[in-house]
Amino acid sequence: MSLGEFDLIEQFFKHSPQKVNQWVDVGVGDDAAILSIPPHTRLVACKDLLIEDRHFFPDDPAHSIGHKALAVNLSDLAAMGATPVACLLGIGLPESDPDWLGAFSDGFLALADSYGCSLIGGDTVLSPQARVISVTALGTLPLMQTGIRRDGAKLGDDIWVSGQLASAHLALSILMDELADPTGQLSTLLPALRYPNARVELGQRLLGLAHAAIDISDGLVQDLSHLLKASGVGALLQLNHLPIPVSARCFADSIVEQAALYGGDVYELCFTAPGAQRDAIGLLSQSLGLELTCIGVITDRPGVVAQRANGTQILLDVRGFDHFKGSR
Ligand code: ADP
Ligand code: MG
Repeated sequence: MSLGEFDLIEQFFKHSPQKVNQWVDVGVGDDAAILSIPPHTRLVACKDLLIEDRHFFPDDPAHSIGHKALAVNLSDLAAMGATPVACLLGIGLPESDPDWLGAFSDGFLALADSYGCSLIGGDTVLSPQARVISVTALGTLPLMQTGIRRDGAKLGDDIWVSGQLASAHLALSILMDELADPTGQLSTLLPALRYPNARVELGQRLLGLAHAAIDISDGLVQDLSHLLKASGVGALLQLNHLPIPVSARCFADSIVEQAALYGGDVYELCFTAPGAQRDAIGLLSQSLGLELTCIGVITDRPGVVAQRANGTQILLDVRGFDHFKGSR
């Protein structure tokens, strides 16, 4: 059975009224949404575009595609220290398959609800071939906060990363038949790829603590390089400090190291903070129940230098995912 555009919006993309964020005056259903932004607040906005066969596989579970479409945007808000308020969903579909739409909207709205981030509008169109999904997310910052920007890193800052690296890239490599999985780790690694966590609470708690932050979407080295360039500094990373999940240990060290340095789809936060904040960051890690690892230090030598446990240093290539330059 296929549904018309308006039935489809009504059935799948209307938030239940009790879940609507308090700042939303008009949500889905009129020509545009209206929000009352509280006084002394800054608005923070971001957008990501996901294309079938590029960002997700056609047969990925629709629930996970819905989750990820929003999670990647919440991750951008988190990297600024913002609190999510609302989102808009543009979606192009070759057909209106109610099973697919139901699962997609369950995944999307479950995550939206967990952050009080109301779906306030969007557009739904027919796409001749592939599915296309674009989400805009809106968040707020207190007016006295300028947000955690990329250009704030200072010489001598510690470089931190939340959670763990490598899993999403290893999972993708197995799915693409580029990596053998003789010990059956895929099911353990796959949630990192399909259900990334947006580190929203961490971002909020880093306001006033971190000097600079970025979310890792295209790979640690590439995204860290953006932060370093914006701040006019360099980095020295300790390779043996990179947080790697246990399930990655059965793959060759060099493969896991490459996945940790260059693998995309991570959605953890990389941030810098002065050494004086180490204890505060340790307490934050405990209170959030989230691993926060110091992986290096900000230097005045441009680029990303990696140091091995034996002290040898190498200047890393800056590469990662780039849509217009091709592969990882
Ligand atoms: P218009 O023709 O004025 O653009 P539409 O008929 O496309 O309006 O949309 C009707 C309402 O449904 C609007 O409030 C719009 O924001 C909302 N809407 C459309 N598609 C979606 C979607 N995928 N998710 C959430 N809201 C949507
Ligand atoms: Mg429209």
